Amino acid sequence: MEDSYRHKGMRRQLVKTVQAQGITDERVLAAIGKIPRHFFFENALVEHAYEDKAFPIGAGQTISQPYTVAFQSQLLQIKPGDKILEIGTGSGYQAIVLLELGAEVYTIEYQKTLYEHTKSFLPKMGYKPNFFYGDGSQGLSRFAPYDKIIVTAGAPTVPNALIDQLKVGGCLVIPVGNQKTQQMMRITKTGESKIKSEVFKDFKFVPLLGDDGWK
Ligand code: SAM
Repeated sequence: MEDSYRHKGMRRQLVKTVQAQGITDERVLAAIGKIPRHFFFENALVEHAYEDKAFPIGAGQTISQPYTVAFQSQLLQIKPGDKILEIGTGSGYQAIVLLELGAEVYTIEYQKTLYEHTKSFLPKMGYKPNFFYGDGSQGLSRFAPYDKIIVTAGAPTVPNALIDQLKVGGCLVIPVGNQKTQQMMRITKTGESKIKSEVFKDFKFVPLLGDDGWK
């Protein structure tokens, strides 16, 4: 697929849209400006790739709205070399943003078709996070602890397993609420058994499934 001047122009416009909504992290904005989001769209929808909206990617799931991706990425305050677990690989777009920010990325997806598709597609774009198939509501204990964890689906509660798998000083960014709307939360592990919780604005995600999700 081609990345034309027109696509690049639409991307610059998208960066301005996201910036106008309060995203200030220059590295996050640069990642949004660099990644060809239209590569993730089927032909019929490609004209919508640079709208600031979520879109269907199959299996009843969505590629998140760029503003949401930018908001969560900014909250994570990623430093190059951070080891990050993403729950909900989906299209892989958010995983690529994390890679562009210099993170070492572990990403887990619950829908087998999406896992298989994204695992074969991202390397074709030159990106290689560590892909896993399974229930991320339990985290991914095999590779814990992580500097940061991001959940890209709406959770009913904060799963304890995710706090357990964070390093002290690390944080979890997770939307928590009912199936209609969720509040974005950042939970920082300030000590072995101490956390600090911050609550941000409302978002609407597809539900987190699995044992510590909506089942
Ligand atoms: N990060 C994705 C992107 O950039 O396209 C967002 C995809 S979508 C908003 C959320 C994803 O979370 C879906 O692909 C869904 O299948 C996945 N998901 C839901 N519950 C999950 C679970 N328990 N473990 C792993 N993935 C899950």
